[in-house]
Amino acid sequence: MSNSPKTLFDKVWDSHVVRQIADGPDVFFIDRHFIHEVTSPVAFLGLEQRGVGVLFPEKTFATADHNTPTINQHLPVEDPLSANQLLQLEKNTGKYGISHWGLGNPKNGIVHVVGPENGITLPGMTIVCGDSHTSTHGAFGAIAFGIGTSEVEMVLSSQCIMQPKPLKMRINVNGQLGKGVTPKDVALYIISKLSTSGATGYFVEYAGDVFENMSMEGRMTVCNLSIEMGARGGLIAPDQTTFDYIHGRELAPKGLEWDKQLAYWKTLKTDAGSVFDKEITFLASDIEPMITYGTNPGMGMGISRNIPQAKDLEGGASSYAKSLDYMGFEENDSMIGKKVDYVFIGSCTNGRIEDFRAFASIVKGRKKADHVTAWVVPGSHVVEAQIHEEGIYDILTEAGFALRQPGCSACLAMNDDKIPAGKYAVSTSNRNFEGRQGPGSRTLLASPLVAAAAAITGVVTDPRQFL
Ligand code: SF4
Repeated sequence: MSNSPKTLFDKVWDSHVVRQIADGPDVFFIDRHFIHEVTSPVAFLGLEQRGVGVLFPEKTFATADHNTPTINQHLPVEDPLSANQLLQLEKNTGKYGISHWGLGNPKNGIVHVVGPENGITLPGMTIVCGDSHTSTHGAFGAIAFGIGTSEVEMVLSSQCIMQPKPLKMRINVNGQLGKGVTPKDVALYIISKLSTSGATGYFVEYAGDVFENMSMEGRMTVCNLSIEMGARGGLIAPDQTTFDYIHGRELAPKGLEWDKQLAYWKTLKTDAGSVFDKEITFLASDIEPMITYGTNPGMGMGISRNIPQAKDLEGGASSYAKSLDYMGFEENDSMIGKKVDYVFIGSCTNGRIEDFRAFASIVKGRKKADHVTAWVVPGSHVVEAQIHEEGIYDILTEAGFALRQPGCSACLAMNDDKIPAGKYAVSTSNRNFEGRQGPGSRTLLASPLVAAAAAITGVVTDPRQFL
């Protein structure tokens, strides 16, 4: 065995390679496989057609989230396509003996929220799901990434996947974050500096004071957004914050098994002297609350700044003009004061309890603007219960907000939660592509604090004035 220093990523990757293929991808073992109603039906059909089964059903976990309604979940789902996908998920998981947390199950919620909160996501694991934002689970020091439908089938049948090993990048953010600057702002800031392709081909490790001092919820937000800069995924070394979060969760190791696993998890850090293919460092003090003004997550800026001019940016002026035209914005515009029609807090990026605490900290004692439609959507039933237990529900309702039921909701608008064409939505989700939140919708990505400030003023507002 080599004694040369290893990165966290190498330690986890190398321990999961089943076979190396010369000049080809590695055959890579998967510890946890999450599935949902949208990308799994075709994969199960493929299994049927090939006449093969599920190799390790106990390593796969299913939840319904992508196209589920966020009101009246006790009623039959009206949309026939969604209803059929949900039925297929129930049938397929039943047939193969896979855990299924469907609508109405108290453990139901967004796949990247329920995995960690139930103790399924653990340090040092390899985790995949047919959803791009599987990178979320990297917050625990796991290698986690999204896969396509044919790969879902591959993992179901063999528990392995063919993967070329990505390059390694380390992004350090050092110093102390300022007032009103959240993990979402850190991630949007990094993407705005690197662009949506700046980490293509890399797996990113986040390091430095800012991530060391961050909660697990915040780390999940950051890792979630890794793929928006093109990275295969992102991860953060597990530490006491990680261990404290996992300890006692229902499916986490217990007793002697906990002690054994903990001893291993403590070895999961990048050794001094390890070499990365690329390393970038930012200062926390340069980051302010962020907002996007364009049609990709890299088109973000500090909320107090003006929209950049094409001449100051790399890339095509015509696509930049097209993007601003879609958004109805002009170069050099201030974002502060722009009218907001919708506010969405939720998704696997910002649908955890800490996000609702932040949102409530601003709306407490204030009123929602009359013209704003707000969708407040917990990431899971567990989060929904916490919202009630902590009194956040009362704060929200007194301020004029209604709490919906868990699901992906307006993150990708596969259910009825669609932003109408031409309307502006401040959204805590992860993508602002044209039509992502509904045909013709215009999305401004931001943190829960910025979303809350917009919801009560009805315009884009710097949340720091309320803190
Ligand atoms: S909230 Fe959005 S990104 Fe997250 S799992 Fe659902 S659809 Fe995917």
